[in-house]
Amino acid sequence: MRGLIMNHKQLLDSAYDRLLEMYGGDQTLMEVGFLNRFYQEKMILQECELYTRYLGFLGRVRKVAEEKGEHIFVRGTAGSSLIAYLLGATDINPLPRHDYCPNCHWVKFKGDGIPFDKDRLKCSCGADPIADGFNIPFESNLKSILSGYMQLTVSYAFFDEVEHMIRDEMWDQAIITLRNEDLTPTWFCFQDKEKNEDGNYILNGNSELFSKFPRITLVPDKTLDKYRELEKATGFKMKDIGTEEYSDAYFQFMEGNIEGIPMFDNCFMRELWTKLKPQSYDDMLKMIGFAHSTNVWRENAERIYDEHKMSLREIPAYREDLFNLIAQHLYKKGVYHTGLAYEVTEKARRGYYERVGGMDEETMLALFRLDIDQEYIFFLEKIHYMFPKAHGVAYLREAIRMMFYKNNFNQEYNKIILGK
Ligand SMILES: [Zn+2]
Repeated sequence: MRGLIMNHKQLLDSAYDRLLEMYGGDQTLMEVGFLNRFYQEKMILQECELYTRYLGFLGRVRKVAEEKGEHIFVRGTAGSSLIAYLLGATDINPLPRHDYCPNCHWVKFKGDGIPFDKDRLKCSCGADPIADGFNIPFESNLKSILSGYMQLTVSYAFFDEVEHMIRDEMWDQAIITLRNEDLTPTWFCFQDKEKNEDGNYILNGNSELFSKFPRITLVPDKTLDKYRELEKATGFKMKDIGTEEYSDAYFQFMEGNIEGIPMFDNCFMRELWTKLKPQSYDDMLKMIGFAHSTNVWRENAERIYDEHKMSLREIPAYREDLFNLIAQHLYKKGVYHTGLAYEVTEKARRGYYERVGGMDEETMLALFRLDIDQEYIFFLEKIHYMFPKAHGVAYLREAIRMMFYKNNFNQEYNKIILGK
């Protein structure tokens, strides 16, 4: 088993090979932006062996899961990395939205459309073009990379096997395990084996002490067990939901048919739906970003929307929206480094400005000089937490798949997912 595991350099090489395979080729030149993105991430990952190792590991876990019909979700920030995508660690492509031909390798950018078209034309070579890309900047992943954090969610049925895989993968490290009786979540913290021994602790009361250690956090989720049950009962696997079925389910959403869809069928989302009248995939994605009690929407963006008539497109729902917004203003002023955008996003997304009672003057004046509206600054000062966009993408995809089952296998869906 261990013989098959690639080392750091091999992993980065294999990510590059995959990049060439997807977007390179003999007939056409690779998009400079894609190559640039790859090298930007590589530059950082070259210094972060542990994180690169996580990505290789995650790629293998996903493969095993697929073979066994298990579900895993990487709901955190790994979905923001191109190299993660190339290594199969995530199925969320962070590049700008685009179509490409897997044969001829041409790329066509799509702006803000939906990430799939109802009637896409075949390429002249006969192949179906692939629609991909969720436009997620690499910076939103930086914090996890540098601190060596990785989180993944698995079904209860798959939990033990993934735990074994973690122990097998990290054989050369001392592993300190922190968990409560109910397993949710379990931390596997890694330390130098020369100086430390393996250990087991209760998570409650100890998490602070171990919070700086690099770790993989494993979270079991019974929803994923239900997915498997649903696939078994219907004989239809989620991964076999094709573009056509997927877009049918999506258009059902557009009609507001959200009854019985987890994540959407609740008071908050219904109210939001009535108010915002989502018109596109991106609108729905934003709604997910506004959910939960993070103070992004309620008593905050809601006010900007009502009083200042800003459009949904202008209001950040995820940390990446915020980062892109500030970065765009920097570019307009001819500034091509994004340090300020990173700093402000990083602080706002974890509620720093809210906790310390506002933004410092220097930063505020810098944002004013970038012609950023004062309303945005008030907005940033109230946020408790902002989700990564990859999280929203994964949730929306799940919701669309649930819509498919609800429409096509209503009885099984009601019984297994809704429990009625
Ligand atoms: Zn083609």
